[in-house]
Amino acid sequence: MEIDVGARETISAHRELQVIEASLEDHELRLRLITDPKSVLGTERLLTAEVKRFAELLIGNPIFRKGLQENPRATTEAFGLRLDPLQVRAMWDGQALREGRLTDADLQRDGIRCLNAFNELKRAFAGRMLSAVSSNVAFDAWRRRQIARCRTEVDPANASAIVHAPATFELASGCSVGCWFCGVSAEKYRGAVSYAAIRDDWLAALAGLRDELGPIASKAFLYWGTEPLDNPDYEKYCLDLKAVCGEFPQTTTAIPLRDVERTWEVIKLSTREGCQINRFSILTPRVLHDTLAHFTPAQLLFVELVLHNRGSLMVKADAGRARNSKRLREDREFVAVELGEYASPALQAARPSTIACVSGFLINLAHKEIRLISPCSASDEHPDGYIVFERAAFADGREAVARLRELIARHMPTQLDAATALSFRGDLRYAAEDDGFVLRNEFDTIAIRNKAHPALMQRIGHLIHEGLWNADAISAALGGEFGVADAQARGLLNLLFDKGVLRERAATSS
Ligand code: SF4
Repeated sequence: MEIDVGARETISAHRELQVIEASLEDHELRLRLITDPKSVLGTERLLTAEVKRFAELLIGNPIFRKGLQENPRATTEAFGLRLDPLQVRAMWDGQALREGRLTDADLQRDGIRCLNAFNELKRAFAGRMLSAVSSNVAFDAWRRRQIARCRTEVDPANASAIVHAPATFELASGCSVGCWFCGVSAEKYRGAVSYAAIRDDWLAALAGLRDELGPIASKAFLYWGTEPLDNPDYEKYCLDLKAVCGEFPQTTTAIPLRDVERTWEVIKLSTREGCQINRFSILTPRVLHDTLAHFTPAQLLFVELVLHNRGSLMVKADAGRARNSKRLREDREFVAVELGEYASPALQAARPSTIACVSGFLINLAHKEIRLISPCSASDEHPDGYIVFERAAFADGREAVARLRELIARHMPTQLDAATALSFRGDLRYAAEDDGFVLRNEFDTIAIRNKAHPALMQRIGHLIHEGLWNADAISAALGGEFGVADAQARGLLNLLFDKGVLRERAATSS
């Protein structure tokens, strides 16, 4: 066993990071990095991939965590990692961290820099998704409003990880995996959608999505309460999505080992076609062990492991099937105790309450149903952690596009609707202040103040809090009482609307 550290690593780590960064835009290079790293960097061992695996074991395997505290080098070697754990001490030595024994050099080691760079890559990937713009003005304003609402309605760490993809397609009826914690309460599996049978409707729906939303349609993906690899033709759907909308979708699979060869082929195809990050959901300690045995660290360099297995430090969302369950409570208690040893206060405080990540259209090709949805904290009203604004059936691709247009027209006004009385969101508690008002919930305090016009701001808050008045009436009241021009009053109301603090058109339960 060779643990190579020191000057040689410094040079190779620097070069490695340069190559990884370059590979983000060069898909063939990225493919070579994961299939034959030696041909690119002269070594099978990529420091970034080793550190990534180290982090996965640290989060996912309690035996590894314990072993590190007792005998770090022997433990790292026993788990097959070619890495000196003392070079990445800042990742795991909580005691040294608490006692201030870690130096700046410890925090700047190559391994730490590689991990940070890789995490930055993942953040950039999510950031590109979040900041994508739709050419459909109404849809774009609606999506921005949902993003703003989520920022103040969902646990902050949870909210910051939501990418608000514009659409997703389900390619089956239900999911064959049946996780106890399924955050969207996936139904029992009843079969996949035949590609041959649905092809024309699917392509018509895809083209309609692209035509209605513009380039942001390329951020769509192909699962929800479904497992993508349940559909034997999944790869064909992915290639169609790229051909019609412009990008090959990200895959998250919970069955990476059901057919290992197929999984590997999907990763390679996805990489070649330009997708940068895929994900495996790891459901048990055995799957974690076998996944790491089947795939080398380099092969999984661009595959994020979502560690749902027993013993993992990942906090599960209190949504869907897990919501209010005894098992979730026990799981969180275990994680809280373990995290106390290692994690930052922010991580320890994380309380995710949704796994939903779409603000847009959820289209099921098996049931031929389209829903307009957006994430929220799971509640009795929305137990699966997302709002369903409306659902509609369609018979074929042409009708799917027609329904999509109708949903945009009905739910995405660009102006405040004159027919609707304005009110604050149900989760927000209103309180008047000297120079305006504040809205509070368990996650945030939103202060709306104007020291130059305190009475005006108070009055706006009060009128909306009453929940009786539409935009016309509020504008007229502000004009009469304060001499405010109609355009200015509507500007203030639209500002609140865009911040997502006003109740949207009545939604049905998810
Ligand atoms: S979490 Fe994913 S894989 Fe598990 S049951 Fe739900 S949809 Fe299926």
